[in-house]
Amino acid sequence: MPQDPFFIPVSGFELPRFAGVPTFMRLPHVPPGHPRLDEVQIGLVGAPWDGGTTNRPGPRHGPRALRDASTMMRAENGVTRVRPFEAARCADLGDVAPNPADLMDSLGRMERFYRDLQQKGIRPLTAGGDHLCTLPILRALAGDGPLGMIHFDSHTDLFHSYFGGSLYTHGTPFRRAVEEGLLDPVRVTMIGIRGTAYDFEDRDFAKSVGIRVIPIEEFHSRPLEDVMAEARDRAGGGRTYVSYDIDFIDPAFAPGTGTPEIGGPNSWQALRVVHLLAGVNIVGADVVEVSPPFDLGGMTAYLGASVMFELLCIMATGIKG
Ligand code: MN
Ligand code: MN
Repeated sequence: MPQDPFFIPVSGFELPRFAGVPTFMRLPHVPPGHPRLDEVQIGLVGAPWDGGTTNRPGPRHGPRALRDASTMMRAENGVTRVRPFEAARCADLGDVAPNPADLMDSLGRMERFYRDLQQKGIRPLTAGGDHLCTLPILRALAGDGPLGMIHFDSHTDLFHSYFGGSLYTHGTPFRRAVEEGLLDPVRVTMIGIRGTAYDFEDRDFAKSVGIRVIPIEEFHSRPLEDVMAEARDRAGGGRTYVSYDIDFIDPAFAPGTGTPEIGGPNSWQALRVVHLLAGVNIVGADVVEVSPPFDLGGMTAYLGASVMFELLCIMATGIKG
């Protein structure tokens, strides 16, 4: 059945791509309270918050930059031939409103926003924000039981605390998520981990609970297909979240981020790993840590928007099936 035209993005043949008010991928803006919200299957959401950032800031500006860059996305995936806007009803749900002056209030506001989507059966695809934004999303989505997760990042974000006891930073969300029972550790794979470290407390914790960490030296020494088959096997058929930190990608391709680590994948590999998520039961996904103040010519935002499009294609295919 052809898709309802309301949910089809504005074509570049009707209005040039550089014109108009930008929404994610030129989709309709369907904020909370909109009469058609209940029909949405995949909701694209901005999370403009970086209150968990410990190093260079700026991801609060990520959603604006990602929205703008995403207007470059067209109707069909050039590799997989998926047409996501025909496969599923997608919309830009706008931004969740954080409280820039209060970390705990922001976490609560985000969790409530995503809980509403969960109750409506809308699968969220989020543009961050820093990586702490993923914690309230997992709190909202794990209501029906712990989730699997496939996590692309140069960091595990599994640390216990920061600066003598701060439990909530962008380096700790998945430690909290395991403690709170939001994730099923044996169904979690973390891919691309690298960089210098204060210590390996995070990796020791991963091992102790059964999380699989694929460090960058292993990632580069194995075929991508093999690495991703392992991640898919571990996730199994159960509900799985995909979290994509833009610093997974080498800073030569994605310099606009707060905590870059050299030696990462190139931009083709960055997209290819998402193609290889096909078949995973994805209940939500995000692209986080895009920091426009550190970007060069919008290249990180454009790559981030391209990763979002790949994630959308995979999610939309899952709904069609
Ligand atoms: Mn991260
Ligand atoms: Mn990171």
